[in-house]
Amino acid sequence: MYLPGVGPKKAEILGKEIEVFTWEDLLYYFPYKYIDRSKIFKIREIDGNMPFIQLRGRIAGYALQGEGSARRLTAAFYDDTGTIELVWFRMRRQIPELYKQDTEYILFGKPTVFGHRISVAHPELETESKFYDGEVGVQGQYNTTEKMKNAFLHSRAIQKIITQILGNIKRTLSETLPDAVIQHNRLISIDEALRNIHFPKTPDLLRKSQFRLKFEELFYLQLNILQVTKYREKRLGGLKFPRVGDYFNDFYHRNLPFELTNAQKRVVKEIRRDTNSGKQMNRLLQGDVGSGKTLVALLSVLLALDNGFQGAIMAPTEILAVQHYETISELLSGLNVEVALLTGSTPKSRRKGMLPRIKSGEIQLLIGTHALIEDVVEFGNLGLVVVDEQHRFGVVQRAKLWKKNTIAPHVLVMTATPIPRTLAMTVYGDLDVSVIDELPPGRKPVKTLHRYIKKKETLYHSVRKQLQEGRQVYIVYPLIEESEKMDLQNLQEGFETTRQIFPEYNVSMVHGKMKTAEKEAEMQKFVSGETQIMVATTVIEVGVNVPNASVMIIENAERFGLSQLHQLRGRVGRGADQSFCILLTRYELSETTRRRLAIMTETNDGFLIAEEDLKLRGPGDIDGIQQSGIAFHLKIADLSRDGQIVTIARDSAQEILADDPLLEKPQHQILKQQLAKLNQRRQAGWFMIS
Ligand code: ADP
Ligand code: MG
Repeated sequence: MYLPGVGPKKAEILGKEIEVFTWEDLLYYFPYKYIDRSKIFKIREIDGNMPFIQLRGRIAGYALQGEGSARRLTAAFYDDTGTIELVWFRMRRQIPELYKQDTEYILFGKPTVFGHRISVAHPELETESKFYDGEVGVQGQYNTTEKMKNAFLHSRAIQKIITQILGNIKRTLSETLPDAVIQHNRLISIDEALRNIHFPKTPDLLRKSQFRLKFEELFYLQLNILQVTKYREKRLGGLKFPRVGDYFNDFYHRNLPFELTNAQKRVVKEIRRDTNSGKQMNRLLQGDVGSGKTLVALLSVLLALDNGFQGAIMAPTEILAVQHYETISELLSGLNVEVALLTGSTPKSRRKGMLPRIKSGEIQLLIGTHALIEDVVEFGNLGLVVVDEQHRFGVVQRAKLWKKNTIAPHVLVMTATPIPRTLAMTVYGDLDVSVIDELPPGRKPVKTLHRYIKKKETLYHSVRKQLQEGRQVYIVYPLIEESEKMDLQNLQEGFETTRQIFPEYNVSMVHGKMKTAEKEAEMQKFVSGETQIMVATTVIEVGVNVPNASVMIIENAERFGLSQLHQLRGRVGRGADQSFCILLTRYELSETTRRRLAIMTETNDGFLIAEEDLKLRGPGDIDGIQQSGIAFHLKIADLSRDGQIVTIARDSAQEILADDPLLEKPQHQILKQQLAKLNQRRQAGWFMIS
């Protein structure tokens, strides 16, 4: 279909910028918000907190101001109650041609207030007659990029093109869901939904359109995930671990230094059930920092050993792999289990000697980093792979594990980044989820305090007290990629200052740019207590365990995300003593930052924090989703708010697949077609999980 007002150049920009290639794509380019176009404000009424608003007035004159990148075109815009300033940084030459002086315009934009001056940057201006062309009332606003705006494809232009498209389509748009699904969930038709999402006739119809389109998006996502899961179950089959033998029992009764928590027991049972079901296990184990996941991993490995299989534990970093190796070797002492460590820095000669022993099955448990899923590493009979702190591992690597044995080994993925239920269902819909929702007994919750940098002096006093009692201290600095150099400098300065303030103590420093061996050695000094203060970047974020550390100071805490702060905090509070986490910030903070810090001081509950994080940041930013290998492109559903729709959509998809797993029934052909279409869509990267 010919798109009115869209020449080849604009078409190219639409494709490149927002992946809109056809008129249909554009119909699925939904407004990101709606504005009441029926109200026009007076300049006198404007204050600093207004969203996008409309004014009616005239331009009194233009002026060029500023130099270099601050060069801008300004105009005075007035109505009968006052004057404001309009500002353009782009298209400075064209604007005065486009918008004449002393012509009445309807202005649309977001006012900003500086002292007594009010200005609107890059406003949209329309003459009244043109403006009332379209429908007045609630109007959609479309996201546009810089390049789009430069090509005059601003929100209003998009809206006009969509008006034309919908005007040209006289027939009803064909349905995209089976009748039964529509009836059962009381959805409005796709035709009504698409027309009203762009041009809502009433607020009620807008709500119904949003519901219908969100449902549809989540429904197909779920249908796809569930189908892939079924396919995988059928294709892969599973190894069976029927025996609980000597390895497991001896360890459990002789070596285990403490009683398992009820949550640990429950999860071990779940894993036993899975590994004996004849299906391949793909389980996600979520447990807050310090909840004792390592032990669950080890018990699962022993189960594999009891059934004649090998086990592997994979960690995201060298430090963690080594720590696992050491902890586990010690836990297993006297049990005659052959454990080996394989990482990127294992010397070639050592590795060479190990490979045949892995292949023969002599090495029963291999612990390591990514190095252990390299193709050269062949196992004799790998039965279980544990992936620790999974947000550093992707779906792609997971699939690679499946090929490590003729029958795919069971996979247990562990994470301390709690994933809110709705997100887990959507992103990890193919994984079963276990949760350790209980900390080992005797732990005191970490006390978290927010302090301003100015008050640092008093803080050092309390820190010294902890040190005098024999405790250890972490001081963490942020690291942001773009200004790595500055951050390192910052860290270095922090290191020097710390040494000056605490001359009687030994200070370690660790950062990501250090050589692994060096980093390791420094870390080891802190673990052994040789150094009492650890100045570091977030490299210590994941998994490191020093129970004697009782204070964590986070510098520039405003630069960390919620989940990250929580992860860091998890490094303390691992022993029996009261621990503290101090969030240091400057005084001026944004509203959301204050909220983040308040949440941290109020709760230690990782799940609550994850939910809040999702609300504050939106799912695109959640740790790990991006690294997880699944691009996330929900067009309308919002996982932080639409949890209920996720559930309904999943139920609906499940019901259909239970009744017709291969979608063969005539009434389900539409589902097959839609899935195929969605899988083809270039932008729908998330449909390609397998
Ligand atoms: P995470 O879940 O963060 O990986 P770890 O497995 O490192 O936690 O466990 C944290 C600490 O708790 C370890 O020192 C471990 O020995 C201890 N621990 C684990 N389970 C128990 C338990 N049931 N009772 C007491 N301490 C436990
Ligand atoms: Mg751990």
